Amino acid sequence: AAAAAPARRVRQAMPADAVLINANENPLGPCKAACEAIASIAPKGGRYDIDGETDKLIKTFASQNGLKENYIAVYAGSSEPLHYSVLAFTSPTKGFVTADPSYEAGMRAAQVAKAKISKVPLKPDYSHDVKAMIAADPNAGVFYICNPNNPTGTITSKADILWALENKPKGSILLVDEAYIHLSDAENVVDQVAADKDIIILRTFSKIYGMAGIRCGFALGRPDLLAKLQPFGQNAMPITGSAAANVSLLDTDLVPTRKKIIADTRNDTFAFLKANNYKFIPSQSNCFMIDTGRNGQQVIAAMRAKNVYIGRTWPIWPNTVRVSVGTPAEMAKFKVAFKEVMDSAPT
Ligand code: PLP
Repeated sequence: AAAAAPARRVRQAMPADAVLINANENPLGPCKAACEAIASIAPKGGRYDIDGETDKLIKTFASQNGLKENYIAVYAGSSEPLHYSVLAFTSPTKGFVTADPSYEAGMRAAQVAKAKISKVPLKPDYSHDVKAMIAADPNAGVFYICNPNNPTGTITSKADILWALENKPKGSILLVDEAYIHLSDAENVVDQVAADKDIIILRTFSKIYGMAGIRCGFALGRPDLLAKLQPFGQNAMPITGSAAANVSLLDTDLVPTRKKIIADTRNDTFAFLKANNYKFIPSQSNCFMIDTGRNGQQVIAAMRAKNVYIGRTWPIWPNTVRVSVGTPAEMAKFKVAFKEVMDSAPT
C-alpha cells in the first residue's frame, strides 16, 4: 500500500525554551495596532469579509505606493502567489531560472510544472548574476529574483533588475520576491509594475511586520498577469490578516524602527563573528550565512543539542549555514553555543 501522506504542517512543535533562529521570523511579532485590530475583529470571524477589510488594505497600499487598486492581489502570505506565478508562467516548454543559492519554493513549483530549472550561481558580490540568468534559458517563462536574497541577505541593484527586465525573452516574466525589502537598503521596483512591465512583485507581512502566523501578502502586477494566477486558487483572506496588515501599513514608524532594531542586533552579531575570525556573508536582511569550514549539517545538529535552532545549508554550499536574527537575548545564547561548537573538534 502507498505510504500515507504526511500531515500538512510548516514546522514541528519546538521545545518551549528553544532559541528559534531558523525560519527568518520576526521575534517582535505583530505591532500593537495590529494586535488590537486582530482582537477587535475576531468576533466577526463567523462571516467572510463583510466589512471590506481586504479592500481597505488594498486602498492603503495603492495610495502609499502609487499603484492602481487592480494591480494588487491580496493573499494569505506570499507563498501562494509565488507558487501560482510559477505554475502559471512555466511549463514543460517554459523554464524557470533562479539564482543559487536562493529561496527554493519557486523551484519546487517549477518541478510540479515539469519545467526545466536553471540554477545560476550568485556573483562574487552575492548579487544575482542577471546576465547569466537571462542567458541561461531563452525559453524560460519565469526569472526569479529574490531581493534581498534568501538565504544570503544580499541585494541586487535596481539597474541589474531593470537590465533583466529589458533583456529577458518575450513572453516571460520577472518574478521579483521583495519579502525582505524593508529590512535592507535595496531599491524596490514597484514603479515597473505601475509602468505595465512584464513583472510580478511579491510582498509579505511575515517578515518586518512580524505576521508570519497571521498571514498576509501581495502579488503586484498588471491585471492581465494577476488574472493568470486566479485559476490556481482563490482562497478568502482571513479578516484578521487583512485588518492587521492595514493598520501595520498605517503605522509609518514601524518599518524604520524595526529595520534599525534588526540591523543593530545583526551588526552586533557580525562584530562577534569578526572578532572570532568566523567567515560570514555581510547581509542587509534578518538572516545571514556563516561558512563554518566544516560540514554544516553537523554544526546544525550540535547547535540543536544546545537548544539553539539555526537554519539550514544549501546544496551549493554544504559548509555554510543560515542563521536568522533573533532578539539580543537569543543572539547572546547563539554566540555562546556557536563558539562552543566551533571550539570542539568536528565530528
Ligand atoms: N519569499 C521568501 C524569499 C521567503 O523567505 C519566504 C518565507 O520565508 C516567503 C517568500 C514566503 O513567506 P510567506 O508565505 O510567509 O509570505
